[in-house]
Amino acid sequence: MHKKIIVGNWKMNPSSIKEAEILFKAISTALSRNPGVDVVICPPSLYLHQLLKVKNKYISLGAQNAFYESSGAFTGEVSPIMLRASKVTHVIVGHSERRSLGETNEIINKKLNALSKAKITSVLCIGEKERSNDGAYLQVVKEQLIECLKGLSKSYLSNIIIAYEPVWALSTTVNRHDATPHDFEEMKIYIRKLLTDIYGRTTALSVRIIYGGSVSKDNAESFFVAGADGLLPGKASLQPKNFAEIISIASKFK
Ligand code: PGA
Repeated sequence: MHKKIIVGNWKMNPSSIKEAEILFKAISTALSRNPGVDVVICPPSLYLHQLLKVKNKYISLGAQNAFYESSGAFTGEVSPIMLRASKVTHVIVGHSERRSLGETNEIINKKLNALSKAKITSVLCIGEKERSNDGAYLQVVKEQLIECLKGLSKSYLSNIIIAYEPVWALSTTVNRHDATPHDFEEMKIYIRKLLTDIYGRTTALSVRIIYGGSVSKDNAESFFVAGADGLLPGKASLQPKNFAEIISIASKFK
């Protein structure tokens, strides 16, 4: 049985290393004792090196992206092997904000394969842009899952965390609205069933399925009650008190 996991996605924030250190230290201070929860902070890559120097043992660091090749003529990219060598343990892959910049399931699949080789834990984001009454969103999520996981070994599956992030619920989506714990619960059952069909029950049960469509201290508990194995807050991870409270709520769910 895995511990609950909270993955903070700082996105392209804050705007300087100094502010990043202040924010990180505020979070670290709130977590100076073992919360019994896996906590991962994913800052912009540029800040990883410095934050690795100041982090305590209760926090892991993750990147928000990685490329699928190991090295070579790929201007602007960072490889899983480089991240691994820098002691980065997690990488967010396939976030909707990257998909909207052109990242396809095929590219995400290559990235997951490269992360598997580098032995880095992947946080794979999936989720539909919109919901209609005909249930088409289930097909969208199914395709994302099947195409992204293609060819990955069973043994790597327990190092994949699947984050269900309905794009219509993200804090940055125009005209957003909240997803309910029931929306998550339904999707978690569906994802677990798809994983069981492909990999079998034992492997499917080893995958953590977390929720990330705009969580805060105010709704975190309801998603744990609905069975979330963890949460992926964006905006709330930039607010130390809010983030620490989410972790404290997570610690009550074993
Ligand atoms: P949000 O972001 O919590 O600000 O909605 C979550 C995410 O996009 O990962």
